Amino acid sequence: MRRIAIIGAGQAGLLAAHALRLAGYDVTLYSDKTPEEFLTKARPTGVAARFDMSLEFERELGLEHWGDEAPHGEGVHLHFLPTKGNVLLTLLGRISKPFLSIDLRMQSARWMHELDERGGQIEIETVTLQRLDEIAARNDLTLVAAGRAEIMKLFPRDETRSVYAEPQRFLAMVNVTNTPMELPYAPWFRPVKFNFFAPYGEAFWVPWYSKGKQWCWGMLFEAKKGGPFDRFRECKTGEEVLGRMQQLIREYMPWDEEVFRQAEVCDENAWLVGELTPEVRQVVGTLPSGRHVMAIGDTAQSLDPIGGQGANNGNKMVRIVVEEILAREDKPLDADWMRATFDRFWERHRWIDRFNNTLLEPLTGPGRLLLISQYGSDARPGNQSPQQKIADMFIDNFNDAILMTEAFHDRDRARDVIRKTFGSTRMPLVSGAAKIGRAQLRQKLGRPAGHPGTLR
Ligand SMILES: Cc1cc2nc3c(=O)[nH]c(=O)nc-3n(C[C@H](O)[C@H](O)[C@H](O)COP(=O)(O)OP(=O)(O)OC[C@H]3O[C@@H](n4cnc5c(N)ncnc54)[C@H](O)[C@@H]3O)c2cc1C
Repeated sequence: MRRIAIIGAGQAGLLAAHALRLAGYDVTLYSDKTPEEFLTKARPTGVAARFDMSLEFERELGLEHWGDEAPHGEGVHLHFLPTKGNVLLTLLGRISKPFLSIDLRMQSARWMHELDERGGQIEIETVTLQRLDEIAARNDLTLVAAGRAEIMKLFPRDETRSVYAEPQRFLAMVNVTNTPMELPYAPWFRPVKFNFFAPYGEAFWVPWYSKGKQWCWGMLFEAKKGGPFDRFRECKTGEEVLGRMQQLIREYMPWDEEVFRQAEVCDENAWLVGELTPEVRQVVGTLPSGRHVMAIGDTAQSLDPIGGQGANNGNKMVRIVVEEILAREDKPLDADWMRATFDRFWERHRWIDRFNNTLLEPLTGPGRLLLISQYGSDARPGNQSPQQKIADMFIDNFNDAILMTEAFHDRDRARDVIRKTFGSTRMPLVSGAAKIGRAQLRQKLGRPAGHPGTLR
């Protein structure tokens, strides 16, 4: 039986461990935390909303336990503002299949227990480079799924695939309870709520299920450096993060003020502040002995959380890595195989990186066409309008970014999407632009803009 070691008990490491154990491999998982420590001492690594393609993998492994009790994410509600106080448009899209955002601490704790029950070995230790070499010597393959921890530096940056050399946003996350789970301006569905401010950054709220089994919101600010949202660097507690978010919501997105007025932080560890450079790394790490280990999950590729893609990316990567391990049978799992395996993942899923980075950048010209054409979407049940279909396609792209990412960069593709959905391109653009223009006029006259999915 082939022996495989995995470093890190987060999303990527545990999925790989379970998938390989179920396929009959001798698996040892090294974690710096016990299940109890995940529950009582750890911070959630992120909000980790997962879409259907990723959840499907978890269901296949018998690891999706919370879908019946957690709040279902049913779509997206987006306010787009070129400047403070000027809501240019809204987009309300319904996702084809719900997404789930489960407290990663509860998930890791349970998945570790289940790995143990399935016959996987679990070692509690913080693996050093020297230990990694010893572990690699004893195993046919060692996968490093340590997130963005120190050990990540073993894997050089892949200059050909990395777009950014520095963080693009300063991030602040807090998970809160004691809030309504419906948005007062669109109570007919439970979406991820995005507020996009072209000059300052983004704020979004994700339906989230806590380790205390509460329905919560995962609140996240993505601040452009030095702008008005960049107010979280000094925060020392979740309460401080929440307090500053509430102030910003009052000032910049008053439509969400009521929802979070009474919010409380879920627990003392349910928050994060910091920054990360979105980048792709070479997945082969060479140890002092010359042995090779392979990066997976965030250790292989870090994505800004803006598109809710990091954990999803990890799931898709792990699925391919496991398929390739199985396909390799008794042949060596060497450096060439590691590179070829990641290349296969990249070939199919590089759109994730592209889509996520698209959201970090100013709106493209083709993206503007798509947003204009969908104007009027309201995500109400039964809305089968072409506008609605484009808005639905936008949120389905979070599930599989191959769907429409290129249309945000290629005018012909954008027009093609519009033509296929409406039967023409001119009319939807003229009509969408006229309605947006009228809403602008109403705002200038001091009246509500009257956008779909807002209180008029
Ligand atoms: C604010 C925020 C919001 C996010 N929202 C989303 C979202 O909505 N959707 C989405 O898909 N993704 C999201 N992400 C990204 C997502 O959370 C990560 O991509 C994902 O959790 C990474 O999983 P991982 O297993 O690769 O790494 P991790 O979750 O970091 O797990 C690595 C584990 O390895 C352990 N470890 C580290 N070093 C060692 C060592 N030397 N020895 C032993 N153990 C070690 C760590 O302590 C940790 O437990 C978000 C991220 C952030 C920051």
